[in-house]
Formats: sequence, structure tokens, C-alpha cells
Amino acid sequence: MTRGRWWALAALVVILVLAGRYLVWIDLANRCVIRIRPSLVGYDNTMVKRALDTLRHGSPADYRNVCIHVATINPNPACGGFGGGCFWHHEGQKGRATIDISTEHGLIWTVAIIVHETCHAIQYHEGRPPRFDLEHECYNEDDRIMRALVQFE
Ligand SMILES: [Zn+2]
Repeated sequence: MTRGRWWALAALVVILVLAGRYLVWIDLANRCVIRIRPSLVGYDNTMVKRALDTLRHGSPADYRNVCIHVATINPNPACGGFGGGCFWHHEGQKGRATIDISTEHGLIWTVAIIVHETCHAIQYHEGRPPRFDLEHECYNEDDRIMRALVQFE
């Protein structure tokens, strides 16, 4: 192998390791793979993974819903929804969706925001009209998970 090739290979390995560490959640046991976009604001990207791990142990049913309905988690919310999370209604959200979440409020809040936005993804996948006020249902969801996790700790 030439030097140039060796460096290219080494660079590729570093990129894959970093991507594995920060940009993808892989849970083979539950057949759950979720892409995590890079955080543009510099918050710790591992927070998303810690939140998914907490949810997996704290509330497996909610975790399963995330795996089913969410393909990508974007930790750069461009909206001011529930504690900094949002779900955009558009065609691209059919199939598994992308949810925007804020990770700056700590672990439990991050978990709650994931559950809240996943609730919107479920609503969308169930074909409910986007303008209909469905916030109430999702606020109940994140309220429930927060109580559950606080007891779980
Ligand atoms: Zn909402």
C-alpha cells in the first residue's frame, strides 16, 4: 500500500469512527437505527444518544415508537415549540420522519422532547390533519414520560 493510500484509509477509519460515535444510533437487538445530524450550535451530540438509551431502559414502549416513526433526529431546532423541539408537516415525513429537538435543557428534557415530537410523527403517520390542534395529546405524552423517568431515577 502506498503512503497516500494508507493516509486515505486512516482518514476514512477516523471519519467512520466519529460518525459512529456521533451521527448514528445503532441498536441491533431492537433493530433500531436512527441518524443523528451534527449539532451546529456545539452542544454535546452524545446527549441524543444518552436520551435514547435512557428511553430504552426507562420506557421501552416509547422507545419502540421512536424507532418505528423516526429515522433522523436533528439537534438543531429551527422553531420554538415545546421546550425547543418541532415537527415539520410535509411529504418528506411519510415513512420514518425527521424530528428537531433541543438538547440544551438536560437529559430528562431531551427525552421528553423526543417523546413529544415522536407523538407528532405518529399523528402525521396516522393521517391526521396538520392544522388540527393536536398539541394537547403530545403535551400529555411528554408529561407522562417525565413523571415516569423521575420515578425511574
Ligand atoms: Zn408539539
